Amino acid sequence: MSAPRLDVDLAAVTHNTRVLVDLLHERGVTVIAVTKAALGSPAVGTAMMAGGASGLGDSRIEDLETLRAGGVAAPLTLIRTPMLSQAARVVRGSATSLNTEPGVVGALAAAALAQGVVHQVVLMVELGDLREGLLTADVLDAARTVTALPGVRLHGIGTNLACRSGVIPDQAKMDELSVLADRVERACSITLAVVSGGNSANLEWALGTRVPGRVNQLRLGEAILLGVEPLHRTPLPGLRTDAFRLVAEVVEARPKPARPWGHFAQAAFGTPTTVEGTGTVNQVVLALGRQDADAAGLVPPPGVRVLAMSSDHLVVDAGDLDLHVGDELTFGLQYGCLLRAMTSPSVTLTLRTPATTRAPRAHAVPI
Ligand SMILES: *Cc1c(COP(=O)(O)O)cnc(C)c1O
Repeated sequence: MSAPRLDVDLAAVTHNTRVLVDLLHERGVTVIAVTKAALGSPAVGTAMMAGGASGLGDSRIEDLETLRAGGVAAPLTLIRTPMLSQAARVVRGSATSLNTEPGVVGALAAAALAQGVVHQVVLMVELGDLREGLLTADVLDAARTVTALPGVRLHGIGTNLACRSGVIPDQAKMDELSVLADRVERACSITLAVVSGGNSANLEWALGTRVPGRVNQLRLGEAILLGVEPLHRTPLPGLRTDAFRLVAEVVEARPKPARPWGHFAQAAFGTPTTVEGTGTVNQVVLALGRQDADAAGLVPPPGVRVLAMSSDHLVVDAGDLDLHVGDELTFGLQYGCLLRAMTSPSVTLTLRTPATTRAPRAHAVPI
């Protein structure tokens, strides 16, 4: 099999989705499963839908188009505020988009009218993380504007926390969103279908609260794909953390001194980290570089230590493992590393579909 490669266990993706969907269902919250870290892989999207997600979301319209082209029939939501230049494409490729700019909503409305459809708009509210979102003082005006526009329908409001600044989506933030939802409904005489509370970082709140208030939707990527919650990166009970694994091939295996020798200046990526230890290490070099993975987010197997990573070489201390050229070593990944691996043209995606899962055509669809 080719290396490096990302082995994807689609049954684990379905399992993780199912566990989260069931837990949140008890609290009246549905799940939009976010495929962006999988670049809109139809196989991954299909596995998520098999786990009971109510729809799929992605930050890039290209990825949503990939899902559709791969035969995925789920409702699609664009979760990044659309580019003005892509308005027509967004209306064609998604039923719903998250928005903050009246000018963009106007362009979506015009495109929807031209295409003879109604596009659903979720207005995003800034609650302190300082990424996308309308200031709360501007939400009612924006809601009235959207409600009055033919071609679009105000589908709901939402927020996104813990992405830029690490602001925790706690009860106070979610209560603020609930209050805003009530106010929008009164001001516009409508019922909002969706109050979208946030991403995987909301799980701690959502699974712990007795007062979900108006929040009835979460948009979950990382928790489904990696089985962890992003606030502390702790594994979520009952979820599998091995849905994605990165496999690399050994290109050199040779015991070497722990310490480099000669006179020192910068290395390929600036000042090299100080070397720990003395004597000889069981040094193994793998054909995996920063082009393919992020050293910080690469989780080596037990007993193996990552020593360094350059553009194309990963150097590890393999400990007691007896590795030879041509052998493969399997790593776990954190979110940033998954993203890097998915976007590296050198990393192939291998879909594992045990005969017991129902994800159809998983091997036939492109990534
Ligand atoms: C990426 C993203 C999500 C999903 O985030 P995860 O932490 O992967 O669950 C949800 N909403 C928005 C707006 C996003 O950009």
